[in-house]
Amino acid sequence: MADIMTATYYVTEAPVDEGRHFVHSANCQVLPESGLDDLGEFPDCTPAMEAARAKYDPVNACALCCGACYEGSDAFEDMVSDDG
Ligand SMILES: [Zn+2]
Repeated sequence: MADIMTATYYVTEAPVDEGRHFVHSANCQVLPESGLDDLGEFPDCTPAMEAARAKYDPVNACALCCGACYEGSDAFEDMVSDDG
């Protein structure tokens, strides 16, 4: 059996920040309850972002659940430094 942790990722159907669609994982604490497009399961946010970009543009990653893929200001990173 593969020992790879995967998570289901979603992208917001409507742009939510600076005209961008946001990618979230299923266990994100700020995951919207509706208006989500199911991207499928991925081992991390990188392929999830690729899947999102194939359907929506522009796309950004949620800083909380997809911090490795998030493109934003340094200031915002302080908010997510205690993840885990
Ligand atoms: Zn998120």
